[in-house]
Amino acid sequence: MSKKKKRPHGHYCKICGEHKANEKFSGKGHAAHICKACSRLSAAEKAAAMDMNRLMDFPMRRLTDSEKKWLKAKMHDQCPEVADTAREVFNVCFPHAERNAMKKQFVINTLSFEVHTEVYDGYGDMEMADCRFTIDRKSRVLTMTDFQAEDGEQSVTLEGGQMAKLLRYIVHTLEIFMWEQDYCLKPDEDDYFTAVLFDEDLYGDDLEESGEDMPTEPEGRPSWRAQVEYSNHTVQDISSYEDYLPERPEELYLSLLEYFEPEDEEF
Ligand SMILES: [Zn+2]
Repeated sequence: MSKKKKRPHGHYCKICGEHKANEKFSGKGHAAHICKACSRLSAAEKAAAMDMNRLMDFPMRRLTDSEKKWLKAKMHDQCPEVADTAREVFNVCFPHAERNAMKKQFVINTLSFEVHTEVYDGYGDMEMADCRFTIDRKSRVLTMTDFQAEDGEQSVTLEGGQMAKLLRYIVHTLEIFMWEQDYCLKPDEDDYFTAVLFDEDLYGDDLEESGEDMPTEPEGRPSWRAQVEYSNHTVQDISSYEDYLPERPEELYLSLLEYFEPEDEEF
């Protein structure tokens, strides 16, 4: 057997990114690196196909400024498939150094966190949560409202250091300011994003049916919602209509709940 490396037969198409046999290219197509099938696409379809190729091959390393710029622009692409994929790639590639730099800008003034779904209770069981926590940095008051209890509102006032530590934990460890991207949530004006995302083949066929049912304008209460006002006047208001609490929101729920556990209980 010869050790000669086999080169892929045929010709590379820059639109679909595939190597195809020579006869799949017209004379002009060879020079332009566009196969016959792709040459029939509209300009917008060609651009979207090329963008999808580039996104699928996006490097998983620290990005250059121009790569970042391109990726951020594609997150707002007119083609929903391109925009969604760019957002996913962005979530994977977003360098930790940048997240860490962002953390310095985010000091929480007030936070409201509502949960209306089943949650893990910290002891191995699932329970239905229907409550809201609020935190106010200035007054150092942490409140829990349990909508299922008759006299369901309890408050604790934390010491200054305790409050600072809690708020730091929410920003630095739980990275609440990134939840929108981490959990693919969009503020209200752009609900279609989640619906489109779940139609993707990436998620397997089993989601196709439920994808059809995804409301583009969800009605009723969200399963959880976080509203945060930061000292730099940024306001964040995110809601999820998925019927579970993802990892970090769940951590937040459990750590806030701890402030209201009876202290004399022993296990
Ligand atoms: Zn092609």
